[in-house]
Amino acid sequence: MRLTDVQREIRKVEDNLNALRALEHKAYGRKTVACTNSVLGRGCGKRSQIQSLTYIQTHFHVPPYSCTEGDYWTAGEGQFDCPKCGRRNRLYDRPKIMDLKNHFSSIERVYDD
Ligand SMILES: [Zn+2]
Repeated sequence: MRLTDVQREIRKVEDNLNALRALEHKAYGRKTVACTNSVLGRGCGKRSQIQSLTYIQTHFHVPPYSCTEGDYWTAGEGQFDCPKCGRRNRLYDRPKIMDLKNHFSSIERVYDD
């Protein structure tokens, strides 16, 4: 096989792979999460597709440890606002959903005071 033929075949495979990755991304986005564990009280129990939700990535402040180490921010749990009842849900006990962070419609970074 000539180099240009090999490169053409590689491009075809890459195009197929990209199309499959896009389908996979959409399929992940159709996974649903229930509103069950809100910050204040119980959730409404309704389910939403993650592709319709904003993933809220919390960060918390770590104070300086000694005179040589400065303070910094570190990522905490993920959260989302239920579009049905408006309650903010915590995802600390739903690691499989947190793993799908990149399949939410967007990611919002928040920093605790
Ligand atoms: Zn809800």
